[in-house]
This record gives sequence, C-alpha cells and structure tokens, in this order.
Amino acid sequence: MIACLDDLYDPRWADSWDAVGLVCGDPGQPVRKVLFAVDPVHAVADEAVGWGADLLVTHHPLLLKPVHGVAAIDPKGRVVHCLLTNGVALQVCHTNADSADPGVSDALAETLGLIDLRPLDAAPAEIGIADQPSSRGTGRLGVLPEPLTLQAFAERVADALPQTAAGVRAAGDPDQQVRTVAVCGGAGDGFLDLVRGSAADVYVTSDLRHHPASEFREHGYGGTGTALVDIAHWAAEWTWLPHAARRLVEGLATRGTTVETRVSRICTDPWQIHVPQHPMTPPEESPH
Ligand SMILES: [Zn+2]
Repeated sequence: MIACLDDLYDPRWADSWDAVGLVCGDPGQPVRKVLFAVDPVHAVADEAVGWGADLLVTHHPLLLKPVHGVAAIDPKGRVVHCLLTNGVALQVCHTNADSADPGVSDALAETLGLIDLRPLDAAPAEIGIADQPSSRGTGRLGVLPEPLTLQAFAERVADALPQTAAGVRAAGDPDQQVRTVAVCGGAGDGFLDLVRGSAADVYVTSDLRHHPASEFREHGYGGTGTALVDIAHWAAEWTWLPHAARRLVEGLATRGTTVETRVSRICTDPWQIHVPQHPMTPPEESPH
C-alpha cells in the first residue's frame, strides 16, 4: 500500500523542509480501508476510527517540527495516540503530491475546468533528458475553453469548490476577460512574481496577504492587470483527495489488488464564521 502511494507521490519529490511519508503504523499491516483528508486533526482521526480505516492519508504533515515525544498530552500527541491505539496508520503526501504529475494543482485546475495544463514552476529537468522541461512542478497554467468575465470566473470557482465560510474573493475588474489561468493549491504567494511574468489573466491560490496582493495589483494600475482569486486553503487542496483516491485504486489494480477508499467531508478550514458588512457611510459635507 505504502509502496503504491510512494510510486504516485515519490517522497524524493518533496521539498527539503517537508516531512512526508509514513508517520505512524506498521508498513507490513494489511490495509483494507483508506481515508483521505487534508488535515490530520482530531476530528479526522475520529472519522478514520469510526469508519474502521486501516490507513489515513493526509496532505498536510502532522509533525513538521521536531518533537521529543508523542504522548497524549497535546493535540498532536493525542492524534498519534488515537490513531495507534485504534490500528490506523498515517501517511503524509504533501509537497511530493504538490509537485507530482498529476498532482494537487492539476486536481484544482481540472475542478475549475482548465485545459492544456503545464507547470507554473517546473521541476528541474529529469536526468538524461536535460532539454525536456519536467512535466512535474508546483502550480499549473491552463486555459478556459471559453473566456469569462472575472465575475463569472469567480462564481465558477465558488460553485466548483467545497463550501467554506470564507467563500471566494477576487481582486480585479469584475468585467475584465480571463482565459489563461494560473493556479496553485495551498499558499501560493511565493509565486506572484512568476505569475506576473506569465501569460496568466488571473491567479487562483490561497492565503494571499495584504501587502503581496496589493503590490501585485499595483503593477496593473491604469489597466486591467492580472486578477487574483483567493480561495480557502482547505477547499483548494480538498480537490486533490478524490484524484489521489482514484489513482491509488488504479495503481493497486495493476498490482492485482484493491482497497476501499473514502474522502473525508469534514471541513477542516479553521474559519467557520463569515459576516458580510455594510458599506461605510460617506463623509458628511461640512456646512458652508
Ligand atoms: Zn496545504
């Protein structure tokens, strides 16, 4: 099971700072049921136990910083304890799934209806075919079959993604036409300069902060510029879960075996409340 996942999402493709692979569990343990989720949080561990999963596959790592123990005295230790005492193993496919082909951003791009996908930030060329750019990499550039206004595109994004309280927000002229789209599952503000140098009409990613977003938009001042669509991190990466589950089943089929899969529908976006506001009142005219 782990070998099949490692074939799809090779741990060597992970960034050097990342912590991917088997977090807890015995690689020799038989696996019949696999639950896929974005975050290894306690609600997801409870779902895995309640469903009788043998393996939980999450996108985000549970333990990214060094720890001295996994006793059930803090949230992460409690998750490890809950999983181990119920016979559930945990495997993490994080930046190795981001940079796979197909990977997390392919799933996001396909969910949004994009075609002709290529990496936004291509991985170094494979050894032996140095002239060929890698088909792996982070983020994707693709096109919409038909151009849309930014407003219509943002609505399409909102309709296509699983619901979160935050919803979808966009920066740009609602009437500007968008056709070439850059996407990056997860926090993609590190690629804003790369997007600006690309043909993208709009960039879809998560966790965009005020200054990077504002400075990016300033480059388009006086014209339309490249628009931004900010989506919930959890929702973006959730789109990868059904893809990964399907690819695991297909990979196991070539090995003459199978497994039951399930995609968690627990929304683990930390933001649970959204409050629309009223417009600011105009300044009062001073009497003359
Ligand atoms: Zn992420």
